[in-house]
Parts: sequence; structure tokens; C-alpha cells
Amino acid sequence: MITTNTDSQKNEKIVTINCQFLNQMKLGSEFNATACINCGTCTAICPMEINLLPRQLFRYVLIGAEEKVLENVNNIYSCLLCRMCEENCPAGVHIAENVRSLRTYINREVYGLSRS
Ligand code: SF4
Ligand code: SF4
Repeated sequence: MITTNTDSQKNEKIVTINCQFLNQMKLGSEFNATACINCGTCTAICPMEINLLPRQLFRYVLIGAEEKVLENVNNIYSCLLCRMCEENCPAGVHIAENVRSLRTYINREVYGLSRS
């Protein structure tokens, strides 16, 4: 675990980094967001107006910010898996599959369930 500051202002929020998080996420799933260019198209087009999904949550996974992902369980389960974002993603990120992977991880690690 690595602990780091993400904000230089007075009310700094310390984020704990889990270096194994990405590998844990990939267990039994096809999570892959490395092609994301953080363009924001997915956020702009999402009918649920979920600002975090998918780009910011995917970024949290890539940097190992597990606790930031777990703070957003409700957002993750609010996704309709409609794939509107995915259809318009210029980088071809499999967004809906990644959201399924997030749910699989939460079900396994938080709720102790073996399948999403
Ligand atoms: S539309 Fe695709 S490339 Fe753009 S932020 Fe979303 S996931 Fe990343
Ligand atoms: S798949 Fe989920 S994140 Fe993407 S547009 Fe649909 S509701 Fe929004």
C-alpha cells in the first residue's frame, strides 16, 4: 500500500493506493481501460448523468485508488449498461464490460458473492 496526497490545498484528502487493485480487478473479468484518453464523451452522453462514470472510475482503477472506487458503489450500480457511451467512445474502450467487471469485484470483495 502507498499513501499519497492528491491535493495541495489545506483540506488535503489522503488516498491510499492498492498496488494490486488492477490485478485483483482483472481476476475473472476482462477489465481494460488503458486505451481511455479521458476525452469526456462518455460522461457527456450518459443518460444517467453519472459524472464519474466511466472515465474517472476507470482512472481510479488504473492508479490503484480502490477506496475511491468503493466510495462510488451506488454510481457503479446506477449504470444501465446501455452502451451509449461505448458506441461513441473514440478509443474503443469496452465500457459496459468494464462496469460489469467493477460490479463483479464489488460483489466478490465487498458482498462476498462469487458472481455479478
Ligand atoms: S469516451 Fe472512451 S476515451 Fe473518452 S473518456 Fe470515455 S472511456 Fe475514455
Ligand atoms: S452504459 Fe452506463 S455509463 Fe454508459 S451511457 Fe449507459 S448508463 Fe451511462
